Amino acid sequence: MPLQYHYMQLPREVIVGKGAIERVPEVIKRLKLRGPALIIAGQKSCEVAGQTVRDLITKSGIDVDTLLVETSTTRDVLLVEERILEWKPQVIFGVGGGTKIDVAKLSSAHQEIPFISVPTTVSHDGIASPLASIRGFGKPYSVMSQAPLAIIADTEVIAHAPWRSVVSGCGDVIAKYTAVKDWKLAHDEKQEYYGEYAASLAMMSVKLVALNAEKIKQGNEEGLRVLLEALISCGVAMSIAGSSRPCSGSEHLFSHALDMLNPSKGMHGEQCGLGTIMIAYLYGANWKRVKQALKQLGAPTTATDLGAADEDIIKALELAASVRPDRYTILQKLNLNYAACEKVAKATGIIN
Ligand SMILES: [Zn+2]
Repeated sequence: MPLQYHYMQLPREVIVGKGAIERVPEVIKRLKLRGPALIIAGQKSCEVAGQTVRDLITKSGIDVDTLLVETSTTRDVLLVEERILEWKPQVIFGVGGGTKIDVAKLSSAHQEIPFISVPTTVSHDGIASPLASIRGFGKPYSVMSQAPLAIIADTEVIAHAPWRSVVSGCGDVIAKYTAVKDWKLAHDEKQEYYGEYAASLAMMSVKLVALNAEKIKQGNEEGLRVLLEALISCGVAMSIAGSSRPCSGSEHLFSHALDMLNPSKGMHGEQCGLGTIMIAYLYGANWKRVKQALKQLGAPTTATDLGAADEDIIKALELAASVRPDRYTILQKLNLNYAACEKVAKATGIIN
């Protein structure tokens, strides 16, 4: 029987801007949270923002506890769940970059309590998405968990993060250019569900970042806000789609393949951005514009920029189609061999 309804879970409050973190007490009040609360943070994010969040929660008259995590493995999620069972919080605050928010997101979803996202970096779209990327059995996998109840993104806090994380965030947004194309392809050829609304929202974020590249590059408040809003829109697009489809296509599979071949080189968004150039080429789309936007933002556009060996780029493109066989993309359709992948990497100037 065809699906009769479509379920969307969206954030209820989104606060973006300078000093946004100071709004924690009023968010608590508006959401009628009476506590206790549990903060999930890393050593660093605790210093940068976690302590402030803790003080503000205490000021609101709510009991609060902090649990530090450094990785996002299945073990970390279980440890947080144990703490939830002991402390019985009404809400979880995920304070940090990707990993802390991922652990907060999944453990709170398992224990059926809401979580509030307080990002300290803008390196990828996980800050607002309903999906958590968890490391288990050696490699990361993405699980549907829950959308944040609120997102409190303080640009003053985020401005302290390394510049490279901003570049990575831009790459992760630009990647939606081909992710949406793959989604449409899967709909046209495999009758997969496709939502115009979610697809448009993801594409709008790409345009926003590409058109404001110069502003973002200046690294000021206004630029960071544009990037944050684009990343949050991407997260919302996934909530609307009910999957990562509008935001993760073959360019993401390329990045995962590169991680499997040679981990700990580029950042997620940097690798996805580079992949987008090659996938756009395969689609006969405007790959030169993608490359130009990335270049303008100071993102890697060659294997050398990324610190990757030419051979790894080619192998990753060849391997990408088999990383997630259930996700139909142009790479499955074309089934490129090593020589064909080399040709793509050369034609787009990724390798010489
Ligand atoms: Zn991504």
